[in-house]
Amino acid sequence: MTRAALAPVLELALRDGYAVPGFVCLGWEDARAFVTAAEAEGAPVILQAGPGCRAHTPLPVIGAMFRHLADAATVPVVLHLDHGRSEEEARVAVGEGFTSVMFDGSALPLGENIRQTAAIVRLAHAAGVSCEGEVGFVGYDGGAASALTQPGDAARFAAETGVDAMAVAVGNVHLQTAQTGGLDENALAAIAAATGGRVPLVIHGGSGVPMTQRQRLSRDTAICKFNIGTEVRQTFGAALRQKLQANPECFDRIELLSATEPAVEHQARAILRALGASGQALGTDQPPVR
Ligand SMILES: [Zn+2]
Repeated sequence: MTRAALAPVLELALRDGYAVPGFVCLGWEDARAFVTAAEAEGAPVILQAGPGCRAHTPLPVIGAMFRHLADAATVPVVLHLDHGRSEEEARVAVGEGFTSVMFDGSALPLGENIRQTAAIVRLAHAAGVSCEGEVGFVGYDGGAASALTQPGDAARFAAETGVDAMAVAVGNVHLQTAQTGGLDENALAAIAAATGGRVPLVIHGGSGVPMTQRQRLSRDTAICKFNIGTEVRQTFGAALRQKLQANPECFDRIELLSATEPAVEHQARAILRALGASGQALGTDQPPVR
């Protein structure tokens, strides 16, 4: 049993200068590959169920799958609800054993975002669960434009909500298929200064951030969590396509989907290493197990 809450995992990451990937999970094969990768690297890991995943698979099914993987793992595994939109959704996730819930009130006016996020922080903390909020707005590739996080807003949001992790918009964009963007490091430094460097920061849209910048910012800044989805989904798709093309007679679902796991695992290990998470689950200082 190695289920861990997000707060203690990120607290160690902030203190020791590394970040933990929040891997976007869409099913059994990728979730299993992420945990296998984390075990091979001796790293903590965050399994995330986002809106796309939840629209496809009911939350209780995902929760049971995540719990099974976490409970059998030898490294800390955080079970995270990504982009929750309501208090009810957070309550259901907590009931299903998630150890961390994100409430995304980024489309709301600041005061309302703070009010609703604070309520979910209270709900989560009462159950020993962590809460991530978002201030500013992280946009979508080919969709809604970002609104950069203002340092003053970030300071107020952190102080008034009591969130354990704060997602910020500093040039990051969801769903980017190439690492052509990159983060505005001055904007990031201004947010860290305004919040005293004490609040773990989260970068959604991590796939669009060049690997060298991820590496450096994980070590040197308050960024403690990079959400990674698109690049591992690309790897999954490429591996499946290769399997299908090489084996046109194969029709078995288990054989087809299992063939994606080595490629996803290989890539997840490289990401864990780049963020400095490798080996961090092997030290004596570990987050409490739930
Ligand atoms: Zn996101």
